Amino acid sequence: MALIVQKFGGTSVGDADRIRAVADHVARTKNAGNDVVVVVSAMGKFTDDLIRLADDVSPTRLPRELDMLLTAGERISMALVSMALGACGVEAASFTGSQAGIITDTDHTRAKILEMRPDRIRDALNAGLVPVVAGFQGVSTERDITTLGRGGSDVTAVALAAALKADVCEIYTDVTGVFSADPRVVVKARRIPKVSFDEMMEISATGGRVLMLRSVEFARRHGVPLHVRSSFTWEPGTWIVEEDPTMEEAVVSAVTDDTSEAKITVGGVPDRPGIAARLFRQLADRGINVDMIVQNTSAKGITDISFTVAKTDLAAASETCDKVKDEIGATEVTSDDNIGRVSIIGAGMKSNPGVTALMFETLFQNDINIEMISTSSIRISCVMRAEKVAEAVRHLHTAFGLDAA
Ligand code: ADP
Ligand code: ASP
Ligand code: MG
Repeated sequence: MALIVQKFGGTSVGDADRIRAVADHVARTKNAGNDVVVVVSAMGKFTDDLIRLADDVSPTRLPRELDMLLTAGERISMALVSMALGACGVEAASFTGSQAGIITDTDHTRAKILEMRPDRIRDALNAGLVPVVAGFQGVSTERDITTLGRGGSDVTAVALAAALKADVCEIYTDVTGVFSADPRVVVKARRIPKVSFDEMMEISATGGRVLMLRSVEFARRHGVPLHVRSSFTWEPGTWIVEEDPTMEEAVVSAVTDDTSEAKITVGGVPDRPGIAARLFRQLADRGINVDMIVQNTSAKGITDISFTVAKTDLAAASETCDKVKDEIGATEVTSDDNIGRVSIIGAGMKSNPGVTALMFETLFQNDINIEMISTSSIRISCVMRAEKVAEAVRHLHTAFGLDAA
């Protein structure tokens, strides 16, 4: 008998039929002799609908109230899935994040889990029930309701799997696993049966939203076996595993795209020590994550610094830069939210020269201008115009031999 955490994303619980199908699958897993903990997302695009509603009633987002609102989505799903399980003859009980003992910090809309106290979930399991937990939410050390950031139900599932020492955490979604590119962008994308944690973290960090980055980091840290699979076909999907020295390392295993970031340029910056530190300290103090950074070579002691931030942080980042501009003696701050980033990822890149050259040649041959570049040992990313992104992903997927036959 195994303990299995099964997480179902928005599309998987999108309507009554889908919820009945999920309940049927959970019931089968339970009746096969396993203990099951279910984690659910809000139905379909309900979280987006709630955000729109919030924006409609107020021009400023109040993070505490937004969290209270958004957690309602997962509450609906958890109750409906529990009811559907009852109809399948399986006793279930729903729990909010707070009831499930998910304790977070006070950083509303992107709270981090500080502690897991899933006593009620253990009690429910011991009583033979299937606990159904609302994903994406917790309760802060100040006793306010928090959310874990978009896509955060993946984190709930992995954190519960770690705390309960589950045998596996299954992430059910609307595709059959992790693919060599977003299957909605590249028709010829291939499912990857096994992917290393290192590669999966790069995929998640650069736009492959099939797993939220923090859930992958958490799973690796706590040794949680992760299996991404489909709630439509139920077939085996992709296992995220520690790299095994006998595994053949693909030179490039995935191409990702991300249009969720914007670029800020601070122009006319004096080129002397301490300027960048001052700028990025102020951004960090406002909780703004900076991604790619490029500083041009200085001409006559004056330079430009460009960097990318999430579009959702653009207003706050621009405001901060405007403030710092005078302090550091810069002349202007401009922003551009029409950019996109395309990345290639592969553990085999480390030992294969020529990968960067082929990426740049492919973009050049297709008349795609590179605006920024960043690399890690297993990733190369290029920023370009947003409208070129899909095209770039498809050309690179072909150039690196990833197209399915
Ligand atoms: P869920 O609601 O189940 O959490 P998400 O929308 O968060 O689902 O993630 C699944 C989606 O991720 C897929 O529908 C797919 O379009 C997208 N995706 C992006 N990149 C990849 C990739 N490399 N492999 C698989 N899916 C990907
Ligand atoms: N419902 C939340 C979102 O849309 C959390 C999740 O689906 O993981 O971001
Ligand atoms: Mg998701």
